[in-house]
Amino acid sequence: MNKTESSKPKAILSIASIDITIEFDRILHSIMEITCVAMNAHSGTIMLVDEATGEIRIAASHGLGHDYIEKVSDAARKAGVDIASGPQGTAIKTGACYPVPNIFEEHGSRPWHDISREIGFSSGIFAPMNKGTVTTGLLNVHWAKPRKFSDDEIDFVNDIASHAAIVIQNAQMSAGSKNNIQVLRESEAKWVEIKRRLVKDGERRTAIHGIDRDITEKRKMEQQLQEYNEKLKISYKELKEAEEKYRDLFENAGDYMYTLDTEGYFQTINNAGLKILGCTKEEVIGTHISKWLTPESLVVSQEVLKKQISGEKLDYPVTIEVICKNKERRWGEVRTRYIKDGNRITGVHGIARDVTEKKRLEMQLKDYNEKLERSCEELIEADRIKTEFISKITHELLTPLTSIKGFTELLSDETCGDINEEQKKKLDIIYRNTEKLIGLIKELLDIGHLEKNKFGLQFGLVSMNDIIARSIKDIDQQAKEKDIFIISNIEKLPGIWGDEERLTHVLTNILANAIKFTPSKGTVTIMADEAKTGIKISVTDTGIGIPQDKLTRIFERFYQIDGSSNRRYGGAGLGLSICKSIIENHYGSIWAESTGCGSTFNIVLPKLAQRTKKGV
Ligand code: ADP
Repeated sequence: MNKTESSKPKAILSIASIDITIEFDRILHSIMEITCVAMNAHSGTIMLVDEATGEIRIAASHGLGHDYIEKVSDAARKAGVDIASGPQGTAIKTGACYPVPNIFEEHGSRPWHDISREIGFSSGIFAPMNKGTVTTGLLNVHWAKPRKFSDDEIDFVNDIASHAAIVIQNAQMSAGSKNNIQVLRESEAKWVEIKRRLVKDGERRTAIHGIDRDITEKRKMEQQLQEYNEKLKISYKELKEAEEKYRDLFENAGDYMYTLDTEGYFQTINNAGLKILGCTKEEVIGTHISKWLTPESLVVSQEVLKKQISGEKLDYPVTIEVICKNKERRWGEVRTRYIKDGNRITGVHGIARDVTEKKRLEMQLKDYNEKLERSCEELIEADRIKTEFISKITHELLTPLTSIKGFTELLSDETCGDINEEQKKKLDIIYRNTEKLIGLIKELLDIGHLEKNKFGLQFGLVSMNDIIARSIKDIDQQAKEKDIFIISNIEKLPGIWGDEERLTHVLTNILANAIKFTPSKGTVTIMADEAKTGIKISVTDTGIGIPQDKLTRIFERFYQIDGSSNRRYGGAGLGLSICKSIIENHYGSIWAESTGCGSTFNIVLPKLAQRTKKGV
């Protein structure tokens, strides 16, 4: 083991244990001295990189004389190069150890040849000192003679450079904090002094020499503090105003507002809410919602609260029933929103609208509807019983009446023996009245059939000209009895698809009404033509007319304009409703018009082609 090898660990240990609190220059010299001794070197330097400017300078030297730094600077200036050029520059740039066996053969060392010769070194190792990936300086070791360096020697210089870098860093940090403490202490002392003087000299403090600058600084700070305080005051005022506005809104809102904690206990409630409940804030705050809700509404509310807290979607508004202090029940439509403190849900904010009146009306309406439904059901039942009764009674009446009519006819024909004129007249009256009765009963039967939708029309190709002619013939006698003139204005009409008997019944009914409601010596006009819309038949009389508001009502069952018991005209008010049903069953239409002097009844029936087109 040669000297260098044996002193290696010792040297590294010595460098690592340098007291970093001593003067910085002394630390650097110690590193250099230890290195040179351990390496048996001629001399050495430590170069440091300025962190802020990146400039490099020789911070310490060993064995090179006190004026070495000046000599190097002069040489660099003369050569017009940086002191970090040459081998040093190479080591810094590459971040790796750079051995130079012969400085005089190293082209980059040319500017330092003279100095090297003068001082007496010929070779060297230039090792970078690194902090992470950044090179913070160089440790350079020189030897008197040119020489080749072994790997061990290069590694050793490298190791020393690494340790030196750590020691230098620690020393710099220690010096920095020492400096900071010193600065702090000094400023503290200064402030103590300023304070003392200020107290002592009162207003004259600005005149005190040497502390003017500090006072100005202090004033600036005081001014800034004051401005900051002012801003703070304004912000606080604005905040307070906003809070007051919100409180005003909250307290005086028309809807009732409240906040609950996550358990359902009241934290706040506004005036509207208190008014509804009929109590004071103290009586509500801190109480649980269960105190103020019906059991059903409590379930709903707890469900809402749960959903709200778990972030589930809600269907709004939710209607709840509130129990007031005086036990009155009121309804509210509630909307809620959770309150958050950071990410934590701390409660629920609710807005409710009192909908008691609306709810009461709804309930009343529901009651009415139920009553109406019941009445409707009762009516339907009564109507069914009536129809059943009519159906039974009509059959019971029709049989004996048909027999009366038949026997009256036999008596009148003198089939059963001779009768005198007077007896014949009486028998004719019986016969006519029996016929009237049978007609009425048939109408009643038709109504029953209509209701059961069992009208049973017998459709076929029919001629309206024939039907009109037959109907006129049927009522001819009645017209003559009242001295009513019948005018007919009938075009040749095409055949239609219909029930001949029923259509004759309709026309006879309309004509009979026209005669019935027309005073004697009046006229009844029948017109019929082929229109685009179908076959149109009109019956116009010069009778009593129909008020405008009754023009549609007369087609209702049992409706008569004069329904009083002492009315002038007979009938049961069924004729027109039967006519309407028959016409509508033919896909036609019927309506009445009245101008004040007489009435017109119009019927339109579809033509054959139209019915085929419509598929009816
Ligand atoms: P009614 O057996 O009473 O004649 P209808 O159903 O045939 O029953 O007629 C209903 C009501 O329509 C009649 O009571 C009458 O008031 C009115 N009415 C019908 N035809 C005419 C008409 N030509 N002139 C005036 N009123 C009429």
